[in-house]
Order: sequence, then structure tokens, then C-alpha cells
Amino acid sequence: MLGLMQNQPLLISSLIDFAARHHGDGEIVSRRVEGDLHRYTWRDVARRAKQVANRLDAMGLLFSDRVATLAWNGYRHLELYFGVSGSGRVLHTINPRLHPDQVAWIANHAEDQVLCFDMSFLPLVQAIHGRATTIRQYVALCDADKLPADTGIPNLVSYETWLAGQPTSYEWPSFDENSASSMCYTSGTTGNPKAALYSHRSTILHAYAAALPDVMGISARDAILPVVPMFHVNAWGIPYSAALTGAKLVFPGPSLDGKSVYELIESEKVTYAAGVPTVWQMLLSHMKPGGLRFSTLTRTVIGGAACPPAMMHAFRDEYGVEVLHAWGMTEMSPLGTLCTLKNKHLEMSEDEQMKVRLKQGRAIYAIDMKIVGDDGQELPWDGQATGDLLVKGPWVIREYFKGEGGNPLVDGWFPTGDVASIDADGYMQITDRSKDVIKSGGEWISSIDVENIAMGHPAVAMAACVGMRHPKWDERPIVVVVKKPGAEVTREELLKFYEGKTAKWQIPDDVVFVEAIPLGATGKMLKTRLREQLKDYKLPGA
Ligand code: ADP
Repeated sequence: MLGLMQNQPLLISSLIDFAARHHGDGEIVSRRVEGDLHRYTWRDVARRAKQVANRLDAMGLLFSDRVATLAWNGYRHLELYFGVSGSGRVLHTINPRLHPDQVAWIANHAEDQVLCFDMSFLPLVQAIHGRATTIRQYVALCDADKLPADTGIPNLVSYETWLAGQPTSYEWPSFDENSASSMCYTSGTTGNPKAALYSHRSTILHAYAAALPDVMGISARDAILPVVPMFHVNAWGIPYSAALTGAKLVFPGPSLDGKSVYELIESEKVTYAAGVPTVWQMLLSHMKPGGLRFSTLTRTVIGGAACPPAMMHAFRDEYGVEVLHAWGMTEMSPLGTLCTLKNKHLEMSEDEQMKVRLKQGRAIYAIDMKIVGDDGQELPWDGQATGDLLVKGPWVIREYFKGEGGNPLVDGWFPTGDVASIDADGYMQITDRSKDVIKSGGEWISSIDVENIAMGHPAVAMAACVGMRHPKWDERPIVVVVKKPGAEVTREELLKFYEGKTAKWQIPDDVVFVEAIPLGATGKMLKTRLREQLKDYKLPGA
């Protein structure tokens, strides 16, 4: 016997319809590429998303055709999120920080038909358009008068001209909720990038889950600043969860420096922000010297890379901001775990609570996870055993776009490439990415632990730990450090700083000071590049 409830497919168009009807006057504020602030409402987003849909119909784009973006977080990008997916096409967000060769490769692999780009990326589009064989329309996300006359790009039009005259009403089509809605290529640090192809169903389930109190806890009373980019895994799904809840959205556009982000948080009364640790490092470095304070910000989600304890302490102790540690990946839409406390933790001291908060957190309902040893057998949830982390759930990929890389699953579980422990309360802690773990004399050293200790030193701005070949121990850790401007610390002082904070054999063998650590396209430390840079390095005594 079937239930007797209405059968309504979970489609992204329903999110924008709901937002327009139930919190239509909710605000969306965007810093534009031109530097000014643009503001309008969810009702306006819906109207213009419908113009996008009409335009794509007029172009003759078919169901599931790809429309690509190279764009910052902003209102026009938001309109494309809903207009493209809502009308049955697939939104392909491309990471503009990738190398032009990779961007061209990705656009061809995805068979993009349209490419919408912010003017900051005009040189990138000029570099790739000759090689992008499937794109038939280029759209510059700007007003008509901001488009230079001779760009050399064929079939280029400004977004406003492209939409002009299109009706603001549109009947969203209904279709199978398992249809593809958007796609995102992994950063491809090894080999060619592979794409996660999200569905309407996976996106809506993820949007529901992300908004829960023990997940991101997003509500209609929030003003959210997603610093995490809309060009990478849909800004952790925040645009969708905001439409679902009616939260105000504040988009930083291209201005991600500490000063601009701080000013936006204050002027737009942001309560909630989300981003990777490197962005928050810039924000805190801007605030500290002038003794600046937050007047409305109470929570920030930090994920994408391990949040250093020193950063979590700074947010809590100096600014009264709660840090929610999050873990996920492109292949998981991206959220897998979030770190919020359970009732039993409330009686603990703040320091004890902090130990819990520094973990990557508990699985969100519908995601299951396990850790396994080298023999593939599941390991105990005792907070001690570490092994390969595997996940499954309705917003985890089953395979990559076009079947690249074959079947990625192991008995139905997706191997994350992370190494982790899980404690008896279900809190998962990442110790490393499997390719970054340092194996010294048959024992594992967590590069994250080594980095976190260095980051606790007041003179250290950024630290990366990598393993170096060693004739006796196989590998030994070294720590590569960027000093804070004007601050001083010597190699010996830093090595001494490790004493008593970790086992002796886990203390790095050397400290290498550098001006900068290479960052990847999503703002994470790029250890592959760092290792290349260190290829002539010799360990002391090795
Ligand atoms: P890429 O794999 O291309 O770097 P993702 O954004 O998908 O892009 O990165 C996912 C990976 O980032 C995870 O597998 C994990 O290694 C790392 N990661 C994400 N969040 C955290 C976190 N909170 N702590 C530690 N590592 C994290």
C-alpha cells in the first residue's frame, strides 16, 4: 500500500518560488566587481531567474545542457543558480583560480554551451575562448555600458542586454528530481579534474540538512556572509539553504581581504559567516592591530581545511564568536559533518568543550561514515584508532561525470582519501589526508597536529608540515613557516616550542622559513607544489 500524500518532486525551482512568496522582501546585498554595493530582494531574484530561464529557452538550450559560470559571489550568480537549474539545465560553476589550460579542458569536458563571467575574468576568457569548442554564447555579468567594445571574444553580450525584454514570468517545468542540477570539478591536484554531478533531489536534501540547528543552524533571523565561493561546491549550499529559510545573504564579490570583509560584516549586520581558515586569518590579522570588534557576528562556520586551535581560541576568547568546525568535500555536496556540542558537553569546562569543538564533528543525518584499517575491516569508535574514512548518503556521489575514473565506491561506500578517528559519541576527527600522512619508522605522524602547534606560536602566520625522505626512518616531518609581518622567531625557538606539546618523535626535524606557502584554487595549502619547491631540500643529518 502506498502512502496517500501528494507527490511533489524536490526541484530547485520550488526553492526560489517559496523564497519569493514567503519571504519575498528578504534582502540580498552584493559587493560588485565595480566596488559599489547592490541590494534587492528574494522577489527580485525570482523575477530575474525567470528571465534567465526564458532566455535559455529562446536560445534553444535543451534539458540538461550545461551553462557555465566564472563568477564571484554576487546577485547575478545567484540568479543563474535558480534560472539555469530551475529550467532544467545544469549549472556548471568553474573555479576561476584554475590554470587557463584546466579551465579550457573543463569547459570542453562538460560541453558547456554558455559561459557567464564576471569582468574580473575577462583576460581568462580571452585566453581560453579559442580552445573552448562547445561554447556558443559568452555573457559578461555586467551592465551594457561596462562591456568594452573590442574584446576579441565572439558572441559576447552583457548580461543585462542578454536578459532585456525577457518576460519575468515563467512556468517552471516539472521533471524527475533525480535529474542533474549543477556540477563542480574537483581541484584535480593529481591528474585531470573529475566532476561531481549534483541532482535536484541531492541539492534540496542537503539544503534542508544544512539549515538544521545542529548543522549550520540557518534561520530567517540570520544575515549570512558566505565567503566560501559560489564557484566551488555551491558555496557549501548556502544559497539554497538561505532561499529555504529566508535568511539575508551578503555577498563579498571579489573583495576578500580582511578590511573589506570586516566592513561588510559591520555595515550589513552579518550574524553568520562561512569560509576556509585562510580567509579568517586575513580577517583576524586586519582586526587585531586596531582593536576592532564585531557588533553582530556571533557564529562562523570554518571548514575545507582543519581549523587551527589558535584561530578557534581567537574567535571565542577575543571576539566572542562561536566557531563551528565543518568537514566535507566536493563529492559530498559538500557537507558531511559539523561540530556542535551534545547536552552532556555543556557541563564540561570551556577547555574540555574546546577539545570537542576542534574535532570535525558528527555526521549529519542521512550521511553515514566509518573508518577502516588496511585490511578493509571497520575500526572501533574509540577516539584512538585511525583509519581510512568512508561515507555514504543521498548527497554523496555514486560516480563521476561521464564515468571518469571508473567506479569510485567500495561496497557502496565512497572513500574520502582522509584519515580519521571517530570517538564513542560519534565525533570524527581528521588526522590527515592519506597522501599527506607522514610515516616515520612505521608510525604515523599527523601533519595537521604538527601545523596546529606551530600556528599556536604568536609569530607564525601560516604553517605547512610535509614529510621528507629519511634513510633510517623512511620519512621525517619538517614544518614550513610564514612569519607574521614584523614578528620574529628562530628555528631553534620554534623547535623548542614543540617540547611538551607532542611526543618527542613527532617534533619536526627542521623549520624552513618562506615568504609564502602556495595556495590551491580553493585557498587551501597546496602541498604538492610545496613539495616540488622543496625538491633540493636536504634534511639535517640525513
Ligand atoms: P579538493 O579535494 O579538491 O581539495 P574539496 O573541497 O572537495 O576539494 O576538499 C575536500 C577535502 O578537504 C577533504 O577530503 C579533507 O581532506 C579536507 N577538509 C575539508 N574540511 C576539512 C576540515 N574541517 N578539517 C580537515 N580537513 C578538511
